[in-house]
Amino acid sequence: MGENNLLTIEKSEGRRKCPSCGEENKLMIHESTDKSNIILDYPRVYGKKYRCGKCATEWREK
Ligand SMILES: [Zn+2]
Repeated sequence: MGENNLLTIEKSEGRRKCPSCGEENKLMIHESTDKSNIILDYPRVYGKKYRCGKCATEWREK
């Protein structure tokens, strides 16, 4: 699987923040489609991943 070291963290209540540096500014946290994570085959639904604009860490939530 093309997992490329994506961190997986528990989805937290409230504000999303970077698991590495703690950035909470949502303008700094970029959401994108994670094509390596297929949630549903039909209709095709992919998971989401997030990238911190401050420290470049990428992660996904369970
Ligand atoms: Zn960060």
